[in-house]
Amino acid sequence: MVTRYVFITGATSGIGYGIAQILASKGHHIAYNGLADFEDIIAISDKLKDLGAASVHYFDADMRNGDAVREMITAAEFTMGPIDVLINNAGIQHVAPIEKFPISRWDDLIAVNLTANFHTIASVIDGMRARGFGRIINISSVHGLVASANKSAYVSAKHGVVGLTKTIALECATDGITVNAICPGWVRTPLVEAQIHDRSEVSSRSFEEEASILIQERQPNRTFVTPEQIGSLCLYLMSEAAASVTGMAVPIDGAWTAH
Ligand code: NAD
Repeated sequence: MVTRYVFITGATSGIGYGIAQILASKGHHIAYNGLADFEDIIAISDKLKDLGAASVHYFDADMRNGDAVREMITAAEFTMGPIDVLINNAGIQHVAPIEKFPISRWDDLIAVNLTANFHTIASVIDGMRARGFGRIINISSVHGLVASANKSAYVSAKHGVVGLTKTIALECATDGITVNAICPGWVRTPLVEAQIHDRSEVSSRSFEEEASILIQERQPNRTFVTPEQIGSLCLYLMSEAAASVTGMAVPIDGAWTAH
């Protein structure tokens, strides 16, 4: 297997950290970003090195700031090496009906979940073209394919990510670059645990009872997807076997979107 230079956004937690661990265990070079304190970043980097990453680099950038995102990618290519694989994963959530949706939360959510992907992709594409190889993997969501009430910003951003994925796949179709979106159903991460917590506050059910109800509402196999399963799907999309898989929105959702 070829060793790749990989950049993962939002890898200090949840799905991004799971993807980073799977890719580190296959010996790839890993550069990552995400919000975390110094001790956590040291612990994450040490874990990725222990798992076998060829190199590990952390880059600090607030994904709401386009200039900072572009500078981060430039710094990563200078420090780690040219990025072969870009995984756009950083994301946030806010749940509220449209009439009560705070404007600042809408702006932040679109910036982190959608616009940051525009900046990272625009920053790596020339280099990938020049080298004749690239893999861009955007972590969208089932909410890139179907909607849920009270998640207007998230659903809009994630549908946008699917549209961005298809557009860039067309722009790069003859350049050796593939562009795909992964669309997970429920994954038990801090982003979802916050929603379970809010629901249990309203219902007065225990956290675990509410988690069980949540998974049964939409995900027919009644099983949370794991970050490691998403990491394994990334490994496939990075592989030569997936050279013709491009412009796809791939659900990993226990049949949620089969409804
Ligand atoms: P998480 O909260 O565990 O992780 C989110 C990551 O994004 C963290 O590393 C965080 O630091 C980073 N991040 C957030 N805001 C940032 C900012 N302004 N600047 C830099 N980094 C920032 O959440 P997760 O569930 O692991 O989500 C990861 C991705 O997967 C998101 O795009 C999310 O929408 C998507 N997703 C999650 C689920 C799920 O059920 N958990 C399902 C489908 C899609």
